[in-house]
Amino acid sequence: MNRVFLDHAATTPVHPKVLETMIPYFSQKFGNASSLHSFGQEAYQAVEKARESLARLLNADSREILFTGSGTEADNLALRGVAAKMKARGNHIITSAIEHHAIGHTTAYLEKLGFQLTYLPVNQYGQVDPENLRQTITENTILVSIMHANNEVGTIQPIAECSSIAHERGVLFHTDAVQTVGNIAVDVKSLGVDLLSLSAHKFYGPKGVGALYLRKGVPLEPLILGGSQERGIRAGTTNVAGIVGLGRAAEIALAELPQRVQHNHALREQLIDRLERNLSDFQLTGHRSERLPGSVSICVQYIEGESMLLYLDQEGFACSSGSACTSGSLEPSHVLLAMGIEPGLAQGSLRISLGHDNSVENVNDFCRALLVVVERLRAMSPFKKKGGF
Ligand SMILES: *Cc1c(COP(=O)(O)O)cnc(C)c1O
Repeated sequence: MNRVFLDHAATTPVHPKVLETMIPYFSQKFGNASSLHSFGQEAYQAVEKARESLARLLNADSREILFTGSGTEADNLALRGVAAKMKARGNHIITSAIEHHAIGHTTAYLEKLGFQLTYLPVNQYGQVDPENLRQTITENTILVSIMHANNEVGTIQPIAECSSIAHERGVLFHTDAVQTVGNIAVDVKSLGVDLLSLSAHKFYGPKGVGALYLRKGVPLEPLILGGSQERGIRAGTTNVAGIVGLGRAAEIALAELPQRVQHNHALREQLIDRLERNLSDFQLTGHRSERLPGSVSICVQYIEGESMLLYLDQEGFACSSGSACTSGSLEPSHVLLAMGIEPGLAQGSLRISLGHDNSVENVNDFCRALLVVVERLRAMSPFKKKGGF
């Protein structure tokens, strides 16, 4: 069966050019980047080149890039690193109600350690209100962390406005930009952020490698102790091949970004248009325009997202219900609930995330399959509405 991947918010395939660039670093160029001999220096140079490529994509300085083992690790390092370093100054941290678990579970852990957390609410489109942030900042606030774009509904946050409000009060600002880096333009200077997390596998790089942008002069306590890699902030023998892959993915993203955005945006609008014309009793979730170009998220009335997902998989279409990390549990997504979507409707959530490997034909085939699957499930549904769709 011809399988179609429509789950690019969960991960992306490694770009063939990225793979090609990585391969020698598993074989001939296997050196430890900390070694002084030529094997080591060859690896070191490659890592530093990748650091420069990534810095260029973000409009940062290469000395402001720290490589990590994932986006999750970058999020942990940002929050726990700032919290540990700044705890003498204050213990209040502000975040949003719709963060990825990499942030949400870390802030819950920080609460157990005695930090005070404020979870900013979002409106029906999944956006925080910058004025609300302003009112929440206290003398004790040390950090604000708000994600750039949400992984479930695709909504993009007003980060530049929020970071300037934080800075007026001398508070550091972090953003989880794992969904945006490599997919839309991300410029650390125009966003005005002090820390920013990203992950290679969300933009055609390999899994198991991420990075934290740390603005020059921002203090941070390390999480992992050991050697002096990554300026002593992230010890552990350097993942040379992974980092080389991340750097190459950043170069390709920089070169192809406008086409990537245009391609995904066109497919997204085509998909939304087809759904609006053919599917009944559903709701597009997230912001209509302030959203990731390739993100379509919907809630379908009278059926359950997991069943839709499994039936679609049988038809060869891979998408997601809520977030991949929460599938397997039938808890409605915390993101949809925070947006005020009632739990019954939130159960019927489906996320389609498009990528550069998708075509117009994929979208048309998917729509056809979705209509059949929804009809079949509604026919079996105890909450069924008479007349089908
Ligand atoms: C995927 C994702 C992460 C986690 O990144 P990993 O590299 O998979 O650990 C964190 N935040 C967001 C918003 C994500 O989409």
